[in-house]
Order: sequence, then C-alpha cells, then structure tokens
Amino acid sequence: MICLSLTEKNLEENLLQYQKNRGLIDLAELRIDLLDASYNIDALKRFPSICDKPVILACRRKRDGGSFSGSERSRVQLMKKLLDSGFRYLDLEEDLTGSGLEQLAAARSIPVIRSFQDTEQIPADLFKRMMKIHEQGEIPKASVTPQSFADVFTLFRGREELKEIPQKIVVALGNYGVPARILYKRIGSLLTYCTSSGGTEKGSGHMIPEALKNLYHADTVTDETELYGIIGNPVMHSASPAIHNPGLSRLGLNAVYVPFQVDSVRHFFSFAEWADMRGFSVTIPHKKHVLPYLGNITREVKQIGSCNTVVRSGKLWKGINTDYYGFLHPIQEDIESGVVKKALVIGAGGAARAVVWALRNFGCSVTIVNRTFERAQQLAAETGSAAIEIDRYLQNLDRHPDLIVQTTSVGMEPYIDGDPLPGYQFNGEEIVYDLIYAPKMTRILNRAGQAGCRIVFGYEMLYAQGIQQFKSFTGRDYPQF
Ligand code: NAP
Repeated sequence: MICLSLTEKNLEENLLQYQKNRGLIDLAELRIDLLDASYNIDALKRFPSICDKPVILACRRKRDGGSFSGSERSRVQLMKKLLDSGFRYLDLEEDLTGSGLEQLAAARSIPVIRSFQDTEQIPADLFKRMMKIHEQGEIPKASVTPQSFADVFTLFRGREELKEIPQKIVVALGNYGVPARILYKRIGSLLTYCTSSGGTEKGSGHMIPEALKNLYHADTVTDETELYGIIGNPVMHSASPAIHNPGLSRLGLNAVYVPFQVDSVRHFFSFAEWADMRGFSVTIPHKKHVLPYLGNITREVKQIGSCNTVVRSGKLWKGINTDYYGFLHPIQEDIESGVVKKALVIGAGGAARAVVWALRNFGCSVTIVNRTFERAQQLAAETGSAAIEIDRYLQNLDRHPDLIVQTTSVGMEPYIDGDPLPGYQFNGEEIVYDLIYAPKMTRILNRAGQAGCRIVFGYEMLYAQGIQQFKSFTGRDYPQF
C-alpha cells in the first residue's frame, strides 16, 4: 500500500492534498502534531469520514522528529478523544506504555502500529525489536537510516528473517533508503510512505505519490518483477528512471528501474547477483569502478576505459558504453557525410573520453582544450588528437571547427552562468553540441544559437544512450509514445 503522509499545518490544506493524490494512494497518515494550534477539534474528528480511504492517526513527540509541544498527558488525551472518529490505525511509539490507548484501540478494533525510529543507522537489534512488537499483537514499524549500500542490502536480506511477521512496516530513510522505499514489497513492508511535496530536506529520500505510483508502479512490484536500475553517488537527480520506466510500462513488461545510491560497487554487484538483476546503468563516480567486475567488455569500453551499462551475459556481467553511441546519434549523418571533419572538444573528463574516441574512430581530427591542460594532453596522446591551451587556441584560430563539443560541467549548477569558451566568436557554420542536459539551454548554446549555429542539446544524447541501454537490458526496442 502507498501511504500519503499528510503534513500540512491545517486541515483544509491536508484535505486538499488528500483529494489531489487520492487516486495514487491506498491510505493516508494524518500527522496531527504538525497542525497549528488553531485547528477545530470537531473538524479534526470529521476528517477521517471525509476521506474515502483509511487514515492512520499519528501524533509525534518532538524527540521523535515530530512537533507536538504539549505535555505527554495532553498528547495521550488528544489521541483518546479521536479514537471514535473513524481513524483506521493508531500509530504509537515503542516506548509509550501504560497510557491505556492500546486497550481503547483494541476495544474499537483499531490496529496499533508500534513505531520506532533511528535517524543514525539500522539498529543492530532491529529484527528482535520488531519480533517483540509482533508478539504483542501489534504492527511493528521501523524507520531506520541506512548509511551505506551494504545497509540497504541488509534490509532486503532481512525480509527472510522477518517472514514470520505477516504485517510489518519498514521505512528506510535518506537517499540510500530510496530503493527500499520503492521496492517496499521486496523488503516485506506492508506499506511505503510519501509526501505531497516529496520533502524539503535535501537527502531526505522522500518521494511524491506520483513517482511511487505512476513512475515506479511501486504497488505492483512483486518477486517476479525484473529489476533494473542506475548506480551512482549522487544519483537521485538522474533522468534515467524517467526514460526507462515509461518504456517498460508501455511494453507491458513486469519490470522496474530504480535509482541506487551506491558507495561500494562490490556490495552492489553482490546485491545484483542476489536480486537476479538483468542489467543496470552506471553513472559518476562508478564508471571506472565497475570495470574489475566485468567478465566481458566491448571495444568502446576498452578504449574509453569506462562503462555506463552493465548487462547480464550468461554467468558474467558484460560492460557496454552507450554514451559513445548516444553521443554519435544526433550527428551521425554529419560525420558520415563528411560535414564534420574537424572538431573541438572542451573538457577531458569521462564524458570527453567517449566523445573523443567516437570522433576519432570515425576519422575526425580532434583538438582538445581543458582547464587542466595535462589531462587534455593525456587524452590527446591516447587518442591521436591534439591538445592546446584555451588562450592559445583562441589566439591562433585560423579555421573554425565544424563541430564544437562541450563536455565540462560549466553551464550547469553551480556554474550555471559560466561559458566554457569565453571569447570564442562563432562564425555561424559550426555545429555546437553541449553534453549538459540540465539546463537544456546553456549559455554557450544560447550564444551559438544566436550566432546562427546549429545546436545539439545534451538531452538528445541522454535519450539516445538511454534507448540503447533499454535495448541492451530488455532485448526490445524502446516504444513509440
Ligand atoms: P568529469 O569526468 O568529472 O569531467 C569534468 C570535466 O569538466 C573536466 O574536463 C573538468 O576539467 C571540467 N570542469 C569541471 N569544472 C570546471 C570548471 N569550473 N571550469 C572548467 N572546467 C571544469 O565529468 P564527466 O563525466 O565527463 O561529465 C561532464 C559533463 O557531461 C556533465 O555535465 C555531465 O552531466 C555531462 N554528461 C552528459 C551526458 C549525456 O547523456 N548528455 C552523458 C555523460 C555526461 P578538469 O580536468 O580541469 O577538472
């Protein structure tokens, strides 16, 4: 079940959020500790009956991350007053005993969700505590904070240990926890939580109902669902889930593509074996880190020295570099027809390696400029290209290049106003290609477009490499929408 946590300051706004999202959720949790003091108790009592889905009553103390500022007695009294209002579950803290709330809830057949939270780690006695709560006849709810991918793997494996508890809730907090929140059924959790705003805290791992329901179809994931994903650190900004999941759904495949924040590639490969994954995408900083785990690599991976796509090939993992093909896709005809013979590449990082090798393999002459000149020299030496300092390049420009490829981070946050080639005067004949895809229009593309150049956006490459990955993963063409 997908549960919307209602965290607004007043009942009207909570109701609005409920109504806006009701088609995406199975139940809601009303956090009454977050209501401002002016609420009307009668309106609060009516709230569950206005909602046509079950509502959990929760009133969190400050020390548990909530906002209830009154005495413990008044908190208990408030919950007691609301027990006859139609709330379908009552959420109480693990250490709240002797309040009489449990007996009152039992008399009204309201199941108690017994919660505990650890914002630092996954407690060593997690399973023992959950079992104890279960033995009391209550639904254990553990909100825990994985600090590494290995911790996340522990939660997935923990399902086996907890299989005797039919109803339990496990919430993995933070960005590491995101896969466990999406794949909540795979960790054996009865439900997963979301908020209408997705949470304001960076790294909170909170998700919006739209993403859980419509992008990841979290509520339909079963043990049979094929699992794909992307590994990186950070990775939550990745556009890849929004490319792959709609494609998987459109083809009617029982499959999901999930972002995994990964600090240790070794642990992720163990997980991928354990979860019988068919493939995954790889982004910064792991494009090189995955290489030792691959049993089979393509010529491009060998040349570039980095891999952005890992697929299962028999008992081995095979490494592919779809950045290489994704980059070529929008300009393939220009290269093959000879329109592009001479290229300038700005940058000498991982993406530049794929770009330079692709251009060189198709016979283009390439000049590389880069902030750190030594890196440009090194890439030039490996690929049979030229390297030159930016100032010298600009001073000695006799013939404009046919193609300029911008591969640095200059033009995206935090360098959003930056120009990676200041002082360069476009003659309007160049094709200018920026690998940055967020924002779509960077400063250099804007300048080139105004000078009459044809411009190629980074999202074109992103999309092209994504659909090639899709084919490598599923064996199927990416569908038309
Ligand atoms: P990377 O390996 O970290 O390389 C970063 C490059 O940017 C290096 O050349 C670095 O120069 C340069 N750079 C960084 N900050 C700079 C600054 N303030 N001033 C000047 N140069 C700076 O990263 P990457 O993997 O190559 O990715 C680079 C860009 O390509 C990113 O924006 C990424 O989103 C984009 N990309 C897009 C796609 C797509 O599908 N469209 C695919 C892959 C990558 P130094 O050598 O001096 O550090």
